[in-house]
Amino acid sequence: MSSQHVIAIFGGAVAGSEAAAQLSARGKQVVVFDQNALPYGKIENGLPKWHYKLRDRQEGLINEKLNHPLVHFVPNIKLGRDVSFNEIVNEWGFSAVLLATGAWADRPLPIEGINDYENKGLYYQNPFVAWFNHNHDPGYKGRWYDIPDGAIIVGGGLASIDVAKIVMIETTRQALEKRGITVNALELEHKGIPKVLDEHGLQFSDLGLKGCTLFTRRDVGGMALTPMPENPTPEEREKAMKTREKLMSKVREKFLFNLETHRAPVNKIVENGRLAGLVFEETRDENGRLVSIPDSRREYRAPLVISSIGSIPEKIPGLPYEGDIFKVDDRRQGKISGFDNVFALGNAVTGRGNIRESVIHSRQVSETIVDQFLVVNEQDYNTLFQAAEERAKVRIDAMMQSLEVCELKPEGKVQEILKKVEALQKKVGYDGDYDKWIKNHLPPRLENMA
Ligand SMILES: Cc1cc2nc3c(=O)[nH]c(=O)nc-3n(C[C@H](O)[C@H](O)[C@H](O)COP(=O)(O)OP(=O)(O)OC[C@H]3O[C@@H](n4cnc5c(N)ncnc54)[C@H](O)[C@@H]3O)c2cc1C
Repeated sequence: MSSQHVIAIFGGAVAGSEAAAQLSARGKQVVVFDQNALPYGKIENGLPKWHYKLRDRQEGLINEKLNHPLVHFVPNIKLGRDVSFNEIVNEWGFSAVLLATGAWADRPLPIEGINDYENKGLYYQNPFVAWFNHNHDPGYKGRWYDIPDGAIIVGGGLASIDVAKIVMIETTRQALEKRGITVNALELEHKGIPKVLDEHGLQFSDLGLKGCTLFTRRDVGGMALTPMPENPTPEEREKAMKTREKLMSKVREKFLFNLETHRAPVNKIVENGRLAGLVFEETRDENGRLVSIPDSRREYRAPLVISSIGSIPEKIPGLPYEGDIFKVDDRRQGKISGFDNVFALGNAVTGRGNIRESVIHSRQVSETIVDQFLVVNEQDYNTLFQAAEERAKVRIDAMMQSLEVCELKPEGKVQEILKKVEALQKKVGYDGDYDKWIKNHLPPRLENMA
C-alpha cells in the first residue's frame, strides 16, 4: 500500500454511505463510524415502517456502498460521546473528516421550562417515531410510549402528519385489541381506519375514541404539502392551496385526526407534576407573515402533547454552530468554519452559496433544517433521499479539491490509523464481516411477522 489519504465519515446513512462510495471508488481508504449498530439513520428510525419497501430498497443501497474492501465500518461509536471531535481532528491523522450525522435532535418547543415534562405528558417526535418503527419487536428494549386518546400534536411540517397517523393507528389498534380484534399497523395504514373498522362491522364512534388533534400555526394552504412554484402568480398560488386542502382532507378522511389551524403554542398547563395541555394563541397571515391575534389565548387540555416541529443536528462539543446549525464557510462545499479538513454533508448548514441547482429534485426541499417538507407519498420520501445523496456527491467533489493540496499519509501512518480502527471495531464486537453484522442486528420486520 503506497502513501494515501484516509478519510473519516461520521454517519453511515444516505449521505455518509454515498460519500463512502464516492471516495472508495477513487481508491481512498474510508472509515465510517455510526452511533447505531445499523447505519441506516432516518430510514430505519424516521421513515414510518409502513414504507417498508422503500426502506428495504434504501437500506440495500447503503449496504452495497458500505460493504467495500476500502470502507471500514465502525458501528456503535458516537462522535462526541465515544470519541471526541478534538481527538478525531487533531490526533488520529485523518486527511479529512466528513460529518454526515443528519438531524437527530428535536427542535425544542419554544415554551420556557417545558422540557422538564418530557415523558411526563410530553413526547418529542424523533424518539417517538423510532419507538413506533420497532414496537412490534418482542426484543425491543427501548422506552415504551403509551398513547392515551385525545393527544395534542404540535406541528405542521413533514413528520407531524406521520405522527398524527401513528397516534390514530396505534390508539385504534389498541381499542380493537380490547375487543379481541387483532389488526396490525400496516393494514390500518394501507386501508385506512374507516375501512378496517367497516370490515369488522364497526364505526369509529363505537370505539369511544375522540382522536388526536394536530395544531398548526398556519392554515392548510400554507403547509408545504405540495410544491408551490417560486414566485407564484395569484392563480398558481390559489391552485396549489386548493390541492393542499384536498390532500389534507383525504389524509384526514383515512386517519380521522382533528385539525386546528392558526394556533401557535405559547404556554404550558401543568398539573400534579405533569404536562396537562398547552395554551395556544391564534395567528393570522398578513402578506405571508404570521402575526398573533391579541387576546386570543386559549387553554387546550390533553393527556399527552407530542412536539413535531422539526429536527436539528445534535450538538457535538468542539464544532462551531450558528443557532442550531453547523457554521460553514461555503454551503456548496460544506467546509466547517475554522477547520481546513472538516466538512458537513447534510443540509443543516449555514454559509454562502446555494446548492439547489446541483441537486436533482423538482420539489421544494428545505435546505437548512430538515422536517419542513410535508411528505404524503412514498415518492416524496424517495425524492428527499435522492436529494441527500446528490448533495453528498456535490460536497465530495468540492472536498476532493481541497484534498489535492493536503499531504498524503505515509504507509506507516495509514497502517497506524487502520490499527486504531480495528481496535475500536473489536471493542464494539464487530469482526469486519459487514453482512454478518447486519444479519445479526436487523430487527424483526412487522410485514414478516404472522
Ligand atoms: C420524517 C422525515 C423527515 C424528513 N424531512 C426532510 C426535509 O425536510 N428535508 C430534507 O432534505 N430531507 C428530509 N428528510 C429526508 C431525510 O432525512 C434526509 O434527506 C436523509 O435521510 C438524510 O440522510 P443523512 O444520511 O444526511 O442523515 P440521517 O439519515 O439522519 O443519518 C445520519 C446518520 O448519522 C448517524 N449519527 C448521528 N449522529 C452521530 C454521531 N454523533 N456519531 C456517529 N454517528 C452519528 C446516525 O445514526 C445516522 O445513521 C426527511 C426524512 C424523514 C424520515
